[in-house]
Amino acid sequence: MTFVQIVVLAGGIGGARFLAGLRAVTPPSSITAVVNTGDDVTMHGLRICPDLDSVMYTLGGGIDPERGWGRTGETWTVTEELAAYGAEPTWFGLGDRDIATHLVRTRMLDAGYPLSQVTAALADRWQPGVELLPMSDQRVETHVVVTDPEDGRQRALHFQEWWVRHRAAPEPAAFVQVGVDTARPAPGAVEALATADAVLLAPSNPVVSIGTVLGVPGIRDAVRATRGKVVGVSPVIGGAVVRGMADRCLPAIGVEVSAEGVGRHYGARSAGGLLDAWLVAPDDTADVPGVDVRRVPLLMSDPDATAALARAALDASGV
Ligand code: GDP
Ligand code: CA
Repeated sequence: MTFVQIVVLAGGIGGARFLAGLRAVTPPSSITAVVNTGDDVTMHGLRICPDLDSVMYTLGGGIDPERGWGRTGETWTVTEELAAYGAEPTWFGLGDRDIATHLVRTRMLDAGYPLSQVTAALADRWQPGVELLPMSDQRVETHVVVTDPEDGRQRALHFQEWWVRHRAAPEPAAFVQVGVDTARPAPGAVEALATADAVLLAPSNPVVSIGTVLGVPGIRDAVRATRGKVVGVSPVIGGAVVRGMADRCLPAIGVEVSAEGVGRHYGARSAGGLLDAWLVAPDDTADVPGVDVRRVPLLMSDPDATAALARAALDASGV
């Protein structure tokens, strides 16, 4: 069997689970995950990278499987103590075990290491079995433009504030990637895309996960120019998202919440878009001109189902 190189663009939970399935079924290979960092935030002086951590903990066996984020066997003493001081923000829970990750990361960033090297150092412990890359070493933070119900004015708030504090309730008018103009792809990301045998778009949020990664100047072009095939997996099944808030995000960018809507949004590579193939659920239909649309079970309900989905994505890529 020949050695294959696969690149996956990924967000948090959907990306992490998909990567776990892929790791289980890929022949001798290198898998590079280019992970969204638009959700990153600084809280209580700690730099937090939720999507990178979800992927790292999931692949390293440290994730809390029920919550789908954070560490297994977690305790919350520090968060309780911070609340006792009235230290804001009180709406963002940080587990004690998780905090150790953020302490190591913050210390290394403060010492001048780029996020990609910090991520590699953290992954040294977790041995995720894939190369984990942040989409960029520069800070890019997603902000959500919402209309204030009090005065009708538009305001932008950090994605985490919108999602965690306000439970995605305020209607989003737009998503803005603060800092993206001057961001560059993390070292190795464009090179991996150029030589990939397959590029897979994980079933992650098309707006605030995949969309954010693609927004880093140079990444979309590198995906379009890859020598392998580009295969996307729909995060929308039967007109609904499996979990998360993509159904709140897609309308804000004018995309229908359906497998067809997301497929057309990514578009055919032959027509200026990204996709060669698009995987949708068995009961879904999607007319995406110029794209090989395949119906396969898309629910990552257990390791076998997840591995079968990853296998189907590889099949569609010809790998
Ligand atoms: P987040 O950063 O933790 O929000 O995670 P992602 O952006 O990686 O993934 C969120 C997306 O994953 C949501 O749009 C979900 O619909 C999708 N998702 C979650 N579980 C599944 C699954 O089992 N199958 C599919 N196809 N999509 C899923
Ligand atoms: Ca995320």
